[in-house]
Amino acid sequence: MSADMLLQCDLWWHGPTWLLRKETDWPAQTSFVIENPDVLRESRRVNCAATPMASESSFIDELVGKFSNYQRMLRVIAFCLRFARNCQHNTTAHSNFIGISVDEAREAETRLIKLVQKQTFVDEWKSLEQMKPVSAKSRIKWFHPMLSPEGLIRIGGRLNQSHQSYDAKHQIILPSSHALSSLLVRSYHEKHLHAAPQLLLSTLRLRYWIIGGRNLARTIVHNCIVCVRARPKLLEQFMAELPSSRVIANRPFSTTGVDYWGPILLKSTNRRAGPRKAYVAVFVCFCTKAVHLELVADLSTAKFIQALRRFVARRGLCSNIFSDNGRNFVGAANELKSLIRSKHHQQAIAEECNENGIKWHFNPPKASHFGGL
Ligand SMILES: [Zn+2]
Repeated sequence: MSADMLLQCDLWWHGPTWLLRKETDWPAQTSFVIENPDVLRESRRVNCAATPMASESSFIDELVGKFSNYQRMLRVIAFCLRFARNCQHNTTAHSNFIGISVDEAREAETRLIKLVQKQTFVDEWKSLEQMKPVSAKSRIKWFHPMLSPEGLIRIGGRLNQSHQSYDAKHQIILPSSHALSSLLVRSYHEKHLHAAPQLLLSTLRLRYWIIGGRNLARTIVHNCIVCVRARPKLLEQFMAELPSSRVIANRPFSTTGVDYWGPILLKSTNRRAGPRKAYVAVFVCFCTKAVHLELVADLSTAKFIQALRRFVARRGLCSNIFSDNGRNFVGAANELKSLIRSKHHQQAIAEECNENGIKWHFNPPKASHFGGL
């Protein structure tokens, strides 16, 4: 179209003529044809489908879909409701409170949940509105649902006589598939400092009962980036095969691991002297995991050899004894470390063992898989 033609084109500058008339005089037709070939290079039939208003269900889906934060959504709805109320009433009755009051937030939430319930539990809503029990095929029939005074479907339950709050006795029923439930669960998850699924579910159930809420809570926690970052999955190394001494059947205590435990305080026979320190030598059979405990009066080599002799006298001679290098002991057990590592101690033990045909193995430090126990 040339510039001159465009200047003279009424349809371009003013739109269709009926648009200038009153709304009641507008034509009822829902489609029209632009027939002037000068307006466009080609004549094209345009079908305009006019919908009177969005249906309630798509409205609520669209509304909830616009938000990523439950509390923000409630605030926005509450402001809209306040605006509508102020428009309907006398100007002097307007609310001057800048923020959103608890009652306003609660009203917004009630209205939203009511719409979601009406959309999801259509048959149940109809039955409850007519004061009838829900159908036997209903998925919420086990909750004995009821319609609360504010018009929400709540759990009937058997806790009427309880002193709990009304919300805790009769939770609001919600479907897990709706975006509102996801927003609600995410808000509770963040409010309770990234609560784990079980805690999240039990906290939610003080007021709401989400059908299939366990899976929803798990999904929300699983998809939470903060939680994933806080609990990274550690790499686990595949441990080496167990040594033969651990897996071949043998006489009990034939192969034994030994370690010290303590110190413990012993009551002295001399009343004037205070309690004194003692240790426990722990002998563990590698085959049967049987445990033999021997009291050792102090950390000297002599006392350990005495304990070893008592152990052998009770359980029989061992063929192999494993012990660590004392690296597992910290703090007060420094003495014990020096004892076990001392050449004198190791030599004395070796001599004692050689006499009895016992082979002694010192595990390398931090190599738990050598002994494994
Ligand atoms: Zn989280």
